[in-house]
Formats: sequence, structure tokens, C-alpha cells
Amino acid sequence: MSSLSRRQLVLAATTAAVAAAAPRFVFAQATSPSAAAPFSVPPLTYPTTAFEPHIDAKTMEIHHDKHHQAYVTNLNNFAKDNPQIAEKPIVEVLGNLNNVSESIRTGVRNNLGGHANHTMFWQIMGPNGGKPDGEVLAAIERDLGGIEKFQTDFNAAGGRVFGSGWVFVTVTNDGKLAIETRPNQDNPIMDGKRALLGNDVWEHAYYLTYQNRRPDYLKAWWNTVNWTAVGERYAAAKAGTLGV
Ligand code: MN
Repeated sequence: MSSLSRRQLVLAATTAAVAAAAPRFVFAQATSPSAAAPFSVPPLTYPTTAFEPHIDAKTMEIHHDKHHQAYVTNLNNFAKDNPQIAEKPIVEVLGNLNNVSESIRTGVRNNLGGHANHTMFWQIMGPNGGKPDGEVLAAIERDLGGIEKFQTDFNAAGGRVFGSGWVFVTVTNDGKLAIETRPNQDNPIMDGKRALLGNDVWEHAYYLTYQNRRPDYLKAWWNTVNWTAVGERYAAAKAGTLGV
């Protein structure tokens, strides 16, 4: 994750440098551009139309470009007076929220949680995502009763989330899986755990197409999961290198 953060910093700095060179007015800046905006939304690696008809393009666009961006914008605002929230890996900050200054703790919980959740979400989705296989499939069969029972239980848990939240599969560093839900933008990292995968059950994730029919969205969402990416996360979890 730290190398990803560095790449994002470099990218942000480059973008800002290009932007700074173009306008007619040059503003004196007290801090470098990268320090001013240390957080950024990772770009999607597939088009917003990739999941039609299961997730419509407009939902993807608003979800990624507006909702996720809002969490990142809020974080960059917090980071202006609290640069330390950007200096440590995200898992370290989220795993130790009590160390965050009380004045911004709830904001960091919500917005860094949101940034972590959505970064994972875009990563574990993808077109032509295949089927679970190898070690992940074996773990699903061992811990979650097989693929059919797993998806039924996961959908049911997601359906039971009252209000906004997430349904996750958590993974321990010895590879054990469990279905868990969290309210709001909480993430298992906050309890010293890790998400192998997760689905967003905030209304903004599905309302344009599904309105009140969250169970239909939960069912259709499986068509968007990239099992290769999930397999890579599983391997990383067992190696102790899984980030957000
Ligand atoms: Mn969301």
C-alpha cells in the first residue's frame, strides 16, 4: 500500500504541476501540491459501462467520481491541519483510531473508512471476473459451507444491514474466512481484521436501478466480482501484506 500511496503522490504532484503551469495567475503556495492533497481516488481500471445491466454506468460514475471523491476531498481537508493522517499507511491509521486527534476522529473514521472501503470495492470488481478457484474456493468450502451457501448467507447479511453499511468477507492471516457486516463506512481494519472482499449496501450503490430492491442488487452484484483480484487479496492476506 505504501508504494501505491507513493505512486499516487507522484501522480498528484505531476497533475498539480501541469495545472500550475497552465493558468495565467500563479498562486504562491505555502506547501507543496502533494502535501496539499495527499489522498486521491484510484482510477477505475474498467469503463463505467463494464457492469451493465447489473450496475448501471451512471451509478458507477456518480459512485466513483462523486461519492468516493467526497471522502477523499474531506480527508485532504483534514490533512491540511493534521498531516500525520497521511503519513502513515491507511491500515495503521484505521487500526489505531484512538491515536487520531479527537477533533477529527469521527471524520477520519468515516472518510478514511470510506476511502479504504471504496478502494477495495473497485479493486475486487471487474468485467469477466470468472469464478472462485484454487485456495479461495477451498477456503469458501471449508469456512462458509460452499459457494452457494456462502453467497446466500452473504446476500442475507447484506440485506439485514439497517441503513447504510457494508457486508464483508473477512480473512485472518491464516486464511480463515467469515461473513461480517459493518455500519456506515466502518471497515474490519478498525477491529484488527482485514476484508477479503465486500459489497457496498449504501443506497447510493444501487438506487438508480434497484430503488428499494436491495436483495436484487445483492444477487446481481456477484456478476461484477473479479475472482482473480480476490485470489490475489487472499494470497496477500496469508502473506501479511494485504493493505486496504
Ligand atoms: Mn459507496
